[in-house]
Amino acid sequence: MQLKKDIAIKKKSATQSLGYRNFPMVPRVVFGRGSFNQLSEILMPNRKHSDAPFIFLVDDVFEGTELVKRIPLIFNDQLIFISADEEPKTEQVDYLVKRIRSDFTELPSGIVGIGGGTLLDLSKAVSIMLTNRGSAADYQGWDLVQKKAVYHVGIPTISGTGAEVSRTTVLLGPKMKLGINSDNTTFNQVVLDPDLAQGVDKAQWFYTGMDCYIHCIESLNGTYLNAFSQSYGEKAFDLCKEVYLGDLSPEESRDKLMMASWHGGMSIAYSQVGVAHAMSYGLSYLLGVKHGIGNCLVFQHLEEFYPEGVALFHLMREKHQIELPTGVCSNLDASDFETMINVAMGMEPLWENALGQHWRKVITPEKLKSIYKKI
Ligand code: NAD
Ligand code: ZN
Repeated sequence: MQLKKDIAIKKKSATQSLGYRNFPMVPRVVFGRGSFNQLSEILMPNRKHSDAPFIFLVDDVFEGTELVKRIPLIFNDQLIFISADEEPKTEQVDYLVKRIRSDFTELPSGIVGIGGGTLLDLSKAVSIMLTNRGSAADYQGWDLVQKKAVYHVGIPTISGTGAEVSRTTVLLGPKMKLGINSDNTTFNQVVLDPDLAQGVDKAQWFYTGMDCYIHCIESLNGTYLNAFSQSYGEKAFDLCKEVYLGDLSPEESRDKLMMASWHGGMSIAYSQVGVAHAMSYGLSYLLGVKHGIGNCLVFQHLEEFYPEGVALFHLMREKHQIELPTGVCSNLDASDFETMINVAMGMEPLWENALGQHWRKVITPEKLKSIYKKI
């Protein structure tokens, strides 16, 4: 009986493996220090007419800075500052869409997101929801978006998440934290100007950069790995090592981390993330811990799964004298742990990538609880 079941499973996975992914890539990208100055000419051919504005969603950390003066506002373009203190929420997307619809009679020419993963994800989601009905929460999942998004441009100001290149926008909804994964999510244009990342503080530079490093480790050590994701993953991994363990100038370091982020994102597009991400989702859902730091908090305790990756992580952390917070889970009760464990265990593809089809034999609620308790 068991044998028959095994054969059935093998047949199923053989058929599934024929379903190769056919995902979109960012069709246009400009890279270079100072390339932000080209934004005006990049947007011009995409302006539908003078009544259809560009909406710039900008991290409020830039309010009152030189960067804002360089944003090419013309006609009735609108600039909206948004805080990145909390991760993006579906209700925030709905609010922004409502506001833009009530401020203008025309659909905007486009949305331009300027900031880190938080602003990039918000911009992707707003551009989708301007043309699709209902709430952003209705589209959390895979391939639920019906209509083409409005033209959208991503301009990262901190490197690591790969949000600039991915086909998802991760949102906290009323029921779950889940991405809008669709062909319409991917940016139409990305501007990679490493100079924009100049003001990032050291701890944040480490946490967001480590998101990229962890993408590489989880992708390269996963069962979903193929030559496509490996080629991007290895490049991103090497760049992370240069940035965090090498002796680069600040300019070179910013250049290379921006490219690491891009390659790391491309790597997981064709594979998947793993244990740290699954468990970090639990932390984020219950405690609002942000993605980069949440991944670090979990990853430091994953030597059992990623021994070399974790050893290197500690070297990087020590070199840059980063002290991770402690006692994050010390006051939680049994039901809190249960919530985090349920969220984490719900991330099935991540576990399957990390440990293979029979991951449930290794990952039990008790096991996850013992790791969370160390954080
Ligand atoms: P972030 O956007 O949350 O920003 C982190 C902090 O850095 C904020 O305080 C922000 O104001 C500040 N900051 C950004 N640029 C700065 C600059 N140039 N100078 C000074 N301060 C600056 O950080 P993040 O780590 O890039 O993004 C995290 C978000 O990305 C999470 O919401 C996560 O879910 C999402 N994410 C998305 C994907 C995807 O594929 N869509 C992948 C990974 C993570
Ligand atoms: Zn990540």
